[in-house]
Amino acid sequence: MIPSVMPTYNRAPLSFEQGEGSWLIETSGTRYLDLGAGVAVNSLGHANPALVEALTEQAGKLWHTSNLYQIPNQQALADMLVEHTFAETVFFTNSGTEACELAIKMARKHFHDAGQPEKVEIIGFNGSFHGRSAAGIAAAGGDKLTKGFGPLLPGFTHLELGDMDALSAAICDRTAAIIVEPVQGEGGIIPVADQVLRDMRALCDEHGALLILDEVQCGMGRTGRLFAHEWAGIAPDIMMVAKGIGGGFPLGALLATEKAASGMVSGSHGSTYGGNPLGCAVGLKVMQIVTDPAFLDEVNRKAGLLRQKLEGLVAGHPEVFENVRGSGLMLGLVCKAPNLDVVQAGYDANVLTVPAAGNAIRLLPPLTISDEDIAEALTRLETAATAIETAVK
Ligand SMILES: *Cc1c(COP(=O)(O)O)cnc(C)c1O
Repeated sequence: MIPSVMPTYNRAPLSFEQGEGSWLIETSGTRYLDLGAGVAVNSLGHANPALVEALTEQAGKLWHTSNLYQIPNQQALADMLVEHTFAETVFFTNSGTEACELAIKMARKHFHDAGQPEKVEIIGFNGSFHGRSAAGIAAAGGDKLTKGFGPLLPGFTHLELGDMDALSAAICDRTAAIIVEPVQGEGGIIPVADQVLRDMRALCDEHGALLILDEVQCGMGRTGRLFAHEWAGIAPDIMMVAKGIGGGFPLGALLATEKAASGMVSGSHGSTYGGNPLGCAVGLKVMQIVTDPAFLDEVNRKAGLLRQKLEGLVAGHPEVFENVRGSGLMLGLVCKAPNLDVVQAGYDANVLTVPAAGNAIRLLPPLTISDEDIAEALTRLETAATAIETAVK
């Protein structure tokens, strides 16, 4: 009999009742150190007092009005995103997937309205993840996401990430956009080299195409800059944001330049919930905290500390781990042992990590994780690694 909750997830038998900073607590009182943060969503930790206050204050006043009316905190959040990024305009969604939908629609509409209706093709990369909608799976490609779901949205090609010869050969007059994650998340924490991003930007400029960056997982301070592409010194035309921006409240955004958004006139797109007062109250507070330069300095300092400790862990357990990769507090441990065994050994040691492709596990702790909790994380990961070694012997 099919379970009442549709069985699309492979869930661990863990169930949490409460969260506190970097910790999740079961009904029994057992505490787990959360290095997954709901897949990079709980950017400021669980039950962050500033976010609880922002949400409950808004909850007592007004939940929803629809986008038929002005929404002051949506306006304030858009202004703040524009102030701190390349973007000149913002559309709010409830998720990363919806931001991806709009990115694709927007790129095509831009060229349609500019009298270049043949520019509809979009180039993506193997190992990408852009969400589970029909457009999202077409943009990412790959059997794992697309197999069995019938004819895909046309107009997408997929190349090996970093193969600039293939990209130069593929980009043409019909290319509307390149879509890429500056650090692939689901794909196994694979950072795109700064030079590759700069070359992609140059190729887009040369061919009059738009650069779409998917910063749903790597954005909002995760890599130590507000957005990961800032490390490469480039700017996209369109950028997808979600996960960390809501700190746990469902919120996403599509940021764009005025030029890229030129086709998005009144009536061209919409969302019932996108940018509603509750989501924007939380998003505004997250932005106020994450854009503080002192906050990002701390993320970078802690990222250095965690990375150094992880290098030590890998060196000490060569049968379990291969290497560490990633950027900031978006780190991947490439495993030699099966990654799901490592995640399980983590559960047994009361530390939560997230599996990814490429036999990797992801460490995406709250950006607010303390030095003490980083030290505790390493103790628990050591316990997990030792348990795997003992099991093998
Ligand atoms: C999670 C994710 C998405 C999809 O976001 P949802 O909020 O699950 O719809 C898209 N792109 C990337 C890079 C992601 O990590």
